[in-house]
Amino acid sequence: MDRLLEDIRDRELLRGRKAVVVGAGRSGRSASALLAAIGANVLLADTNETLDPTLVRELGENVRLELGPHSRSQFADAEIVVLSPGVPVRRMADVLADVPPRKIVGELELASWFTNSPILAVTGTNGKTTTTTLIGEILRRSGRSVFVGGNIGTPLCEHLLGGGRADVIVLEVSSFQLQNVHLFKPQVGVLLNFAPNHLDYHEDLEEYLSAKLNLFARMDESGAAILPASMRGELECRDFTQARKLWFGPDDAESSNFEAPHLPGAHNRANIAAAWLAVKQLGVTRAQAAEAIREFFPLPHRQQPVAEVDGVLFVDDSKATTLDAVSAALRSFDRPVRLLLGGVFKGGDVARELVPAMRGRVVQVGLFGAAREIFEPALADEFDTFWEADLEKAVKRLFSCARSGDVILLSPATASFDSYKSYGERGDHFKRIAEELA
Ligand code: ADP
Repeated sequence: MDRLLEDIRDRELLRGRKAVVVGAGRSGRSASALLAAIGANVLLADTNETLDPTLVRELGENVRLELGPHSRSQFADAEIVVLSPGVPVRRMADVLADVPPRKIVGELELASWFTNSPILAVTGTNGKTTTTTLIGEILRRSGRSVFVGGNIGTPLCEHLLGGGRADVIVLEVSSFQLQNVHLFKPQVGVLLNFAPNHLDYHEDLEEYLSAKLNLFARMDESGAAILPASMRGELECRDFTQARKLWFGPDDAESSNFEAPHLPGAHNRANIAAAWLAVKQLGVTRAQAAEAIREFFPLPHRQQPVAEVDGVLFVDDSKATTLDAVSAALRSFDRPVRLLLGGVFKGGDVARELVPAMRGRVVQVGLFGAAREIFEPALADEFDTFWEADLEKAVKRLFSCARSGDVILLSPATASFDSYKSYGERGDHFKRIAEELA
């Protein structure tokens, strides 16, 4: 455990006090464990009445689980309330009415009180996981011990409780997490890009952008804000940080000549440019970065080649859940693409935001599952388009038309919940279908 945590524990700030954690997922459970470790009496509340109560047994007797609808009384006298990512504060306004806002925090905020290691945090609409992981790899190559987590993999609370003492903490941070921070102050903050997304959760685009910019709010001149040059006009008009502003883009002279054989496309050049500016702030050399970038492979379900059958390449980009991500993927191919689209549409204007990237690249569109009513009217006049009820039928139909040299690309522009538990399950299914065709 970090010294700061020991200080807080020694000063007994929360000992015997009531802490409420909302959401019993991995992040909520790890926040509960940390609070229990510093002596708080933890109430872990989740609306899902079917949750397995044994999930919390290992957290010890200071953690009590309550399942069912939230109530005001649950939060009465709470010294601190920790909300899990994805719990919408707005919709909880009634039950949280008596809790002062400064006492409502996210897991990330809570965890950040207990470490002195420099934090490098990455947010944005697309490319967070890729860039966060790449930054972690570069820092490891440069000989530092690194924790990579946050929104991906291990929650920071869990890492710290497990005795983790990394030289650098690299975090992927979602806009959900950034809505409940008060003191969280990274040394380096990265905003990769910003496109319409999560409008089911955020009130509007302005709220979504403000949440992202909140990453930089507490930083001062000692810190660096790495920002997309494409948003410079818009961001220069806002007063959102005291940090040094460094702008990046895909064609930056300093980074565009890094060799990146497995990270195709201008969007990946932008991710690399941001990663390079970020690690440079911590003293990493160009040679160290170059080696890590050269050897970096795409993560699963992010433009990942999964099979080649009769000269047709199958690429799994199931993680592309926004129109922007699909456009980025399309722009990185210089061979004919047969594109698979379909699932739970998250918003945006297909004709305006996707069609331009399809022109001259996409030779056929295979729609599958949900959102047919969105895609078909926008695409069928201009592209050879069909619809099938499920992914397997659509893949087989595209393959029956394909020629050697084509790409069959699953970059669906949707969430997967109509037919799958996750984008990962959807991508794995696509890979199995491709392998069976072989
Ligand atoms: P996130 O964690 O933000 O969802 P990922 O790295 O998991 O980002 O990538 C999600 C999707 O976005 C993938 O389809 C990937 O190919 C695409 N993508 C990656 N970087 C960018 C970028 N800079 N701009 C647009 N799309 C991107």
